[in-house]
Amino acid sequence: MKLDQSKALMERANKSLVGGVNSPVRAFNSVGGDALFIEKAKGIYITDVDGNEYIDLVGSYGPMILGHAHPKVNEAVKKALDKSYTYGATTEGEVEMAEMIKEAFPQIDKVRFVNSGTEAVFSAIRLARAYTGRDKIVKFAGCYHGHSDSLLVAAGSGVATLGIPGSKGVPEAAVKDTLIAQYNDIESVKTILEKYPNEIAGIFIEPVAGNMGVVVPEQEFMKELRALTKEHGIALVIDEVMTGFRQKFGGAQDYFGIEADIICMGKVIGGGMPVGAYAGKAEIMDLVSPLGGVYQAGTLSGSPIAMACGLATLKELKNYDYQKADEMGKKVKAALEAAAAEAGVEVTVNQFGLMVNPFFTNQKVTDFDSAQTSDTSLFAKFFWAMAENGLYIPPSQFEAWFLPIVLTDEELNEIIKRIHAAFQAIK
Ligand SMILES: *Cc1c(COP(=O)(O)O)cnc(C)c1O
Repeated sequence: MKLDQSKALMERANKSLVGGVNSPVRAFNSVGGDALFIEKAKGIYITDVDGNEYIDLVGSYGPMILGHAHPKVNEAVKKALDKSYTYGATTEGEVEMAEMIKEAFPQIDKVRFVNSGTEAVFSAIRLARAYTGRDKIVKFAGCYHGHSDSLLVAAGSGVATLGIPGSKGVPEAAVKDTLIAQYNDIESVKTILEKYPNEIAGIFIEPVAGNMGVVVPEQEFMKELRALTKEHGIALVIDEVMTGFRQKFGGAQDYFGIEADIICMGKVIGGGMPVGAYAGKAEIMDLVSPLGGVYQAGTLSGSPIAMACGLATLKELKNYDYQKADEMGKKVKAALEAAAAEAGVEVTVNQFGLMVNPFFTNQKVTDFDSAQTSDTSLFAKFFWAMAENGLYIPPSQFEAWFLPIVLTDEELNEIIKRIHAAFQAIK
């Protein structure tokens, strides 16, 4: 595989962009070699600057569920562009988009749009604190909720570990109210609640974790989490930034039969433009300014161009058969297992709808600790074998792959064929 142009661009990028990137996972640190520079993408195919073409299973880490440059989405964005980009006033697109999201999440009354998933979640922290009049928050080891100070906490292995900053520059004061529980382990939550009764404002969770690789929680765990938060007057904040509109038209909450107090969204709802949102019942959302005292604002929030892109994406998604999408995910899971077995490589494959990824371990992966048992150097080899075979996956063991919902049966078979070839190359 020739990567001369990518290499040359990386050398240039390194002089003017930090680490040559604007988001760290793009840097290929964990797989080695030169980061790919992308020229363009259309449908499920993505082309790098050297002209290598891959089937894209990264989907820009989630938003590009319809594949790239979808004609209907393009048309909507072009139409919006002609009217100008932003006015500092509400537009009909924002109203329509909020209505569409309410249709997908019937449990919510009101939506506030922001510009990223990070912004959605850190706004939700402020809201949960205002709603409950409490300060402490709980997150789960291995879950990612964006890079705001109080959620950037190292995954302490001890149950009820007090937060230690997971990044330089985060003061202890910013994380002193963040507590860490273990994913899929309701006892770890109970321990925290016993230790801090009446002090927890919100519990934050990815309903299916996708930021330690895909980890699907037990149904029972999610149900108990909902019951416990209700009982203790804690806001359950479900971060659907990754899962929203991916396994069904709506969120993963429906799959588990639970309802959040505050829902965070991002990725798919922008269709590739920067959009995030938080939403909930009126009684909670009306605490946000201008109706309430929780200040939160944004010059470009609800950008007409971004709304047009997101709305066209959601409208298109409504026509898709999510059942069939889940079957595609299951087929890729089965193919990964079969190809690995054929090559004598041990993997555990987790999948939820269109999210899937193999862990290079013989253990079940149910939380952050078990995810860490993966052989990341074998993953690195696998990553390059996949690239050689024309499959572009995230350059990290701990990222979910995102299958585009638009895959045809032939394309799916092509992916499966290439997966087999990649495993043969690393055996
Ligand atoms: C990606 C992600 C975020 C952060 O969203 P950004 O748009 O990158 O700020 C937050 N939560 C979850 C679950 C995510 O997957």
